[in-house]
Amino acid sequence: MASRPDYYKILGVAKNASEEEIKKAYRKLARQYHPDRNPGDKRAEERFKEVSQAHDVLSDPEKRKQYDRGAGPFGFNMPGGFDPSSFGSGFGDILSNLFGGGAGGAGRGGSARGGARVARGRDLETEVSLSFDQAVDGAQVPLAVPTSQPCATCRGTGAKPGTSPRVCPVCNGRGVETESQGIFSMSQPCSNCGGAGTMIDDPCPTCGGSGAQRTMRRLRVNVPAGVREGSRIRLAGKGESGPRGGEPGDLYVVTHVAPSAVFKQVGDNLEVEVPLTIPEAIRGAVIEVPTLRGSKRLRVPRGTKHGTVQRLRGEGPPRMGGKTRGDIHYRFVIDVPESLSAEQSEAIDRLSQTMNGNPRARLFEQAGR
Ligand SMILES: [Zn+2]
Ligand SMILES: [Zn+2]
Repeated sequence: MASRPDYYKILGVAKNASEEEIKKAYRKLARQYHPDRNPGDKRAEERFKEVSQAHDVLSDPEKRKQYDRGAGPFGFNMPGGFDPSSFGSGFGDILSNLFGGGAGGAGRGGSARGGARVARGRDLETEVSLSFDQAVDGAQVPLAVPTSQPCATCRGTGAKPGTSPRVCPVCNGRGVETESQGIFSMSQPCSNCGGAGTMIDDPCPTCGGSGAQRTMRRLRVNVPAGVREGSRIRLAGKGESGPRGGEPGDLYVVTHVAPSAVFKQVGDNLEVEVPLTIPEAIRGAVIEVPTLRGSKRLRVPRGTKHGTVQRLRGEGPPRMGGKTRGDIHYRFVIDVPESLSAEQSEAIDRLSQTMNGNPRARLFEQAGR
């Protein structure tokens, strides 16, 4: 048995990490090691795979429970038998999408994966780039996802039309061979049929017996309002179709959001830097500030200090789940001119003559120097 990878260590989280913590750690690492950011870096690619696989297991409560119990992805007493490929679902596809698509997928619809009892199709993952406004408002975006679908010639059976697959005599159609060693029983894909549970005597000429055809599936995805950089949208049943007519997997769409020059996302809220002139900060003012839906007036109080924040509640982007919105925080920054006209210079001179106390005196008193 291969040594079991420590998925908690790979993600850098504690054994009792919450789902949220796992998600956060994954996103950070996935971004860091994303092949797009590290072209040609084999080590980063490896790390990216490890991180994806760790997330895959730990983010799924069932798989995580199984993993925590020590029944790792390497086949001891796994329901459905020995099938490491059902873990790390889809990262092969992420990579093949990124690296020009398709090549990694050859023959995947076929025998070795799944087995007779795990006939669900693979989950796929793809990425979509959105403008800031699309992320805030939601959008319908076109997607092209390389996938496989049941072969049209044989309707996914893999057998030449007019013939049909027969039940594998070695595993009696179960797709796995089970061997008992003391208290353990170990399951492996059937060596005769490769886990399919059936044998094909006359393979279909179109798909070569795999039952699957590679295609590019085009679909439109409704991206909900309020997605962020790295949000994952699950489209149930839009993944790869199951081998030989099995239930399809899911499609995960990871969103990338172009940053806005004005609105900076901080948690559920947006932050905007608002310059104030020196007189506005001193005397107070009513000013116009941008919002997601146009503009609003803000009252700047007299004597506003640099860095003061005012918030407009509910003016931020929708929170995930949709019913409430975050806030916009306006942070006032005092705009100090780099050069002055003669008139301004004179005015500042006059002002400074009236301010002859030393504002730093207090510092020395407090520091006792
Ligand atoms: Zn068999
Ligand atoms: Zn076929």
